[in-house]
Amino acid sequence: MSEADDPLVNGKAPSTEGRDPAYFSYYAMLQHQQQNMLQDTVRTSTYRSAILLNGPLCFHDKLVLDVGAGSGILSYFAVQAGAQKVYAVEASQMAEKMRKLVESANTESEALAKNTFLKDKIEVIQAKIEDPNLPIPQVDTIISEPIGVLLIHERMLESYLYARDTYLKPGGTLFPSTGSIFLAPFSDIALWTETMGKARFWEQSSFYGVDLSALYPDAKDEMFGMPVVGCFDPRTLIAQANPGGYVVDFYTISLEELQDMTIPFIWQASYTGIVHGIAGWFDLHFSPPPSVPSGNTIAMSTGPAAERTHWQQVRFLLKEPLAVNAGQTIQGWMRCVVNEMRSYTIEAEIMVGEGQLTNPTIPLTSIYNLDFNRRRGKWRLHEQTYNYNYYPQSDNLFRPEYNCLYEPEHPIDTTVVVENNFVDDNNQFII
Ligand code: SAH
Repeated sequence: MSEADDPLVNGKAPSTEGRDPAYFSYYAMLQHQQQNMLQDTVRTSTYRSAILLNGPLCFHDKLVLDVGAGSGILSYFAVQAGAQKVYAVEASQMAEKMRKLVESANTESEALAKNTFLKDKIEVIQAKIEDPNLPIPQVDTIISEPIGVLLIHERMLESYLYARDTYLKPGGTLFPSTGSIFLAPFSDIALWTETMGKARFWEQSSFYGVDLSALYPDAKDEMFGMPVVGCFDPRTLIAQANPGGYVVDFYTISLEELQDMTIPFIWQASYTGIVHGIAGWFDLHFSPPPSVPSGNTIAMSTGPAAERTHWQQVRFLLKEPLAVNAGQTIQGWMRCVVNEMRSYTIEAEIMVGEGQLTNPTIPLTSIYNLDFNRRRGKWRLHEQTYNYNYYPQSDNLFRPEYNCLYEPEHPIDTTVVVENNFVDDNNQFII
C-alpha cells in the first residue's frame, strides 16, 4: 500500500483491511475467546442445543464448515453431534491454539491423549474464509458465530454469506439461519442528562480563558452519535417492539442487501412520556433448511427481558427528545449502511402521530426543519460507549413513573390497526 493510500497516514478512516490486524489480534487472545464468548452461557449453550438437537439430520456423517472457529468450540459440538469431518477456519493466531487442542487427541501415548473423540475429525485452517484456494470441499452444513452488537456490528456476517455462496451444497444447513432485529422507543432521563452533560462541557465561554463554545454543536453530535451499549430495564420501553422484528434470513439475504438495510417500525405508545431514543437488540434462530423439514428450531433472544448475553442491548439517543401520549402511533425507519470501520453508520427518523416520513436516502445534513412531531438522528455503530446503571436484582421497586412514564387512565385500544403504508409485503421500505 502506498502512503497516499494508507488511511492511517492520510487521516481518513482505516479501511477494513487496515483494521484487520487489530481485529484479529483481539480474537487471537484466549481471554477474549473465553470471557466474551465461551463464558456467555446463553450463547454457548444455545449453539450447543441447536447443533446437538439437529445432530441426526444436519450433522451426523456430514461435512461441516466452521467459519471463524476461534477456540473451535462449535467444531467440537459438531463432532459431538456426529460430523464426519469439520473444516475449522480461523484467521487469527487462535488457530494455533485450536490446533494444539485438536492435536492433543493424537499424542503417541493413548493414556495421555485428550479429547479422543476429536481424533481425525477436525481440519484446522488458519486463513481468512475469503482467501482463494482453501482446501475446503462443498459442505452439508456451515456453523458460525459472526454476530456483533445489534446483530450486524463487526461485519463478519459478510464472511458468513461468502462461505454460504462459496462452500455450501444446495439445500445445506446454515446455523444460525436467521437473525431478527428489534427496535423500540425508550425513556431514560438519567442517560440522556448524563450524555448532555458531557456535551455541555464544550459550551463554556471561558475555560482557562478560552471560549470553547464554537465546538458545542460538534460535541453534541459526537456524544449523541455514540450508541450506548449495556442492559436496561425493559420497563423503560414506551412501546412494544414490532412482533417478529426485522428478519435477516441468512439462507437468502444477498451481500448487497446486508450492506444497506432500512428497518421500518411502527409502534403504539403504552405510556405518556418522553422518548429519549431508540433501543435495539436481536434474536437468533437456528432452523434447518426446508429440505430438512423435521428439524428442531432453536431460538435465543438478547432482548432486555431475556437473560443477559455479552451482546447486551444498544440504545440510540436523540439529541432532542420527543413527547408522546399513551395510545399514539410512533413510526419511522432506521437505515444501517456499512462503513469502513467494520461497522455501520446509522440514521433514523421517528415521528409521532400523522405525517409523511422522509425518504431514508435524503441525508440528515439537508434536513434542518423537521416538523415538531419528528426527529432524525445519526450514529456510528463502532463508536460505542457503555452504560451500566441497570442492576436487575436491586430494583424490584422500580415503577415506570419513576422514569416519568405515565400509565394511561383508560385502557388503550390496541385493536386499532395502524395503517402502515411505507413497507411492502416483505417488510421492505418503499418510499
Ligand atoms: N466460533 C467461535 C469464535 C467466534 S468469534 C465461538 O463461537 O466461540 C469470531 C471468530 O471469527 C474470531 O475468532 C475471528 O478471528 C474469526 N474471524 C472473523 N472474520 C473471519 C474471516 N473472514 N475468516 C476467518 N476467521 C474470521
